[in-house]
Amino acid sequence: MRGKLILISLIVMITFMGCNKVKTIEDLNGVEVTFKKETQLLVRDNGIGSVRAGETVEVIAENFMKFQIKKKNGDIGWIKRSNMPIGKTAKVGRRKDWGDRSLYSEAVYNPYNAGDKIISEFDKSYDGEEVIILNDMENGGHHWAQIKLPDGKTAWTLVRYLEPFGKLGETASQNRFNGGNLWVYNYNKLLNKGNGKDTKWLVKKYGIPSGKIEKLNGKDFGAYYYENIELFKGKGSGRVVQFEVKDDVIINVNITGFSDGKISAWLPLSKMMRGFGFGNTYRNLPNILFGINSAFEADGPIDKILPGILFIPLKLVIAIIAIALALIYTMLPIFLVTLIVSIRSMNKDVSTGSLILIQGILGVLLGHLWFLFLIYHDSYFYQEPFLAILFLPIIGSSIIAFMMKTLEYNRCEKCNYWGGFGIGSIWLNRHTSTKTTTTKTYKGDILKDTKVNKKTTITDTFKDLRKCANCGHEWSIIREETK
Ligand SMILES: [Zn+2]
Repeated sequence: MRGKLILISLIVMITFMGCNKVKTIEDLNGVEVTFKKETQLLVRDNGIGSVRAGETVEVIAENFMKFQIKKKNGDIGWIKRSNMPIGKTAKVGRRKDWGDRSLYSEAVYNPYNAGDKIISEFDKSYDGEEVIILNDMENGGHHWAQIKLPDGKTAWTLVRYLEPFGKLGETASQNRFNGGNLWVYNYNKLLNKGNGKDTKWLVKKYGIPSGKIEKLNGKDFGAYYYENIELFKGKGSGRVVQFEVKDDVIINVNITGFSDGKISAWLPLSKMMRGFGFGNTYRNLPNILFGINSAFEADGPIDKILPGILFIPLKLVIAIIAIALALIYTMLPIFLVTLIVSIRSMNKDVSTGSLILIQGILGVLLGHLWFLFLIYHDSYFYQEPFLAILFLPIIGSSIIAFMMKTLEYNRCEKCNYWGGFGIGSIWLNRHTSTKTTTTKTYKGDILKDTKVNKKTTITDTFKDLRKCANCGHEWSIIREETK
């Protein structure tokens, strides 16, 4: 269920973030920490340390999402801001099997080597640097590596932040987290795009590879691996893409870990809709919202100019505008078709039947194409297709149906004026259907109980009578009501 309404909540969240003034590091030194919730869910990622609820810690650094804290025993780790509500009391959710301890949420933290610098996914200062793997170990279900940085320091990091093919004593480069960007391509498209280009182009376009091999087994060429490209071949797809590289030039593209078919791949026109390549420009569009938000953050440029009493209502207005923009963005073609049909409906030469047809056909067709476009070109929707389904097929088709019905009921089919009003309704007939299901309960081999469930559905058919206020024309619409 992770983030099923991530888009809306994200917009609301980022817009409101900053309403509460964030305390500075000095303020937080040595505060009592009360953990807000059970953090088991977040440990999945990379949390392996633990801290007691109410334990006094020192806050040594902070970033957008997290605090870096130091325990009294010297252990250092990162904790999500929302799990450390400063100055508030909150109940700690506890997992019985963890005793009286809560866990660091998403902590990038190693209890055995607290003196070493910990590289987290938020520390980008070592992006792409060549490091030497000194040691590795399993801890808390995670695979850790001790590495030597170019400046001579040693550090521990999760192995998955390193080139996954590095071995002890070999060099590796840190995997870059490129803001959750995910590219979706048809296989041939990427092959044509990449073949003959050099590795500089590759890194510039898709970021530091998640893996790199100098020489493939028994081959005279190596490979770059990317996990932020989903490649479709037929109805199946794969998320780990291998670029074969010889003398710094791409010579072939493969899908490794070719996996499950995506339902979306079976939808009509889906291959065509994956065929566009808008690159970074379009994919970064949602980030504009983050940019707007940072201007409104506490102690941000706008916060400093405006008095607090104006700042909060202003943020509310911005939040409403952001939600409206998100709605328009997700259902762009539906609104567009509705707008076109509305404008056309003012023209008396255009028949109501043709408007209903345009609303239905164009709405469904463009809605379908936009649905495919959104899931293939917007990382949010690709990872949360439920959201795209909610907006387009569910809310979108309701808007289309509503508009069709409005035209049918209110626009006169004879003179084409918006003059329709109700002059009554005639009940035509009732249709009753009963569905019977039998449930048998056995005890051993002996029949103990038989239950017969009857479910009755009643459907009434009505004839709604309409009259035109302009020309007096009368027409009727058949309507069914199901109970
Ligand atoms: Zn009329």
